[in-house]
Amino acid sequence: MKKLYPAAAILFLIVAVWFGWKNYSASHQEVVTFYAMDTPMTITAYGPKAKAGISAARARIKEIERELSVTDPESVVARLNAAGGKNFEVTDDVASLTDFALKMNAETDGAFDPTLYPILRAWGFTTDERRVPSSAEIDELKKLTGADKIFTDGKTVRLAKGSMVDFGALGKGLAADEAAKSLRGAGVTSAVLNLGGDVRTVGSRTGGPWRIGVRAPGGGLLGVLETGEAAIVTSGGYERFFKGPDGQIYWHILDPATGCPARSGVVSSTVAGESGTMCDALSTAFFVMGADKTADYWRAHEGFEFILLTDEGEIFLSDGAAKKFSVDSEFKDAKVTVIRR
Ligand code: AMP
Ligand code: MG
Repeated sequence: MKKLYPAAAILFLIVAVWFGWKNYSASHQEVVTFYAMDTPMTITAYGPKAKAGISAARARIKEIERELSVTDPESVVARLNAAGGKNFEVTDDVASLTDFALKMNAETDGAFDPTLYPILRAWGFTTDERRVPSSAEIDELKKLTGADKIFTDGKTVRLAKGSMVDFGALGKGLAADEAAKSLRGAGVTSAVLNLGGDVRTVGSRTGGPWRIGVRAPGGGLLGVLETGEAAIVTSGGYERFFKGPDGQIYWHILDPATGCPARSGVVSSTVAGESGTMCDALSTAFFVMGADKTADYWRAHEGFEFILLTDEGEIFLSDGAAKKFSVDSEFKDAKVTVIRR
């Protein structure tokens, strides 16, 4: 009997170490913050593969940045924009993003428009020299915009002479989707990415659903959305803006119809769904479209929910969002309208 004690003790020790390691690896958390695509990004991943997953995700984001940047003259998009009306061979990412952007342009009746770059440049949103262009200047530049200025044939893209594309409204969504794939590929089953306001969760959180804070335009929170694996993307005029000499605030999301900052009454638009690329495109489009057209669009399409805040302080929630969104106490007196199909 006496001989059994050491054996039992060793066995106990092995089991204890194994359980301890298992617990440690499941709860192990890695957080990495870096700057990419013109914005700070944070990836939080859990489990033993967290570190490797984050480094793979970060490399993929950097790759997408090198493809999509409009300011890096070496990027694929910058070289396409400089191709002066000639056929240009793009990468798989840029080809599929171009096709998707054209699809979103058609579906949103032109509210989402990837060809606004010449006008955005005139407003100085791409540099730090902000200015209010004259209406004659805008009218002239508008001749270069519109989906009919993009011609695609597989990976060959041609832009009309002088026209330029900019995927600023959906590139971070794509980066979030692709980074999520990289995390999964590395064996991460639980993570949350915040790519400058484009949030994406991977897998599940231990102990309940993910709780994602939706930012309010004045700082603070509009509310908290409970979700499983999803993308949650917010667009707002507060993200990039300047005060003009006339005292008006001008922001970076333009109404393609006017070439001027969109004034639809929506001050913040959030879209949650499976595809980050789609949510990103839609959050920008809804900011332009306003509450009524957003509701019509939602009724006609599947795969996402929305949360809008208007300049009157009213909150519009799609039915699915209403079930999972709790409005912050700061907005407890706001009128909340739930949109149903
Ligand atoms: P987001 O932060 O996703 O709403 O994207 C805003 C960015 O999208 C801007 O900085 C522009 O680069 C671009 N953009 C502005 N207006 C539009 C529009 N109506 N459609 C598509 N892209 C736009
Ligand atoms: Mg967007």
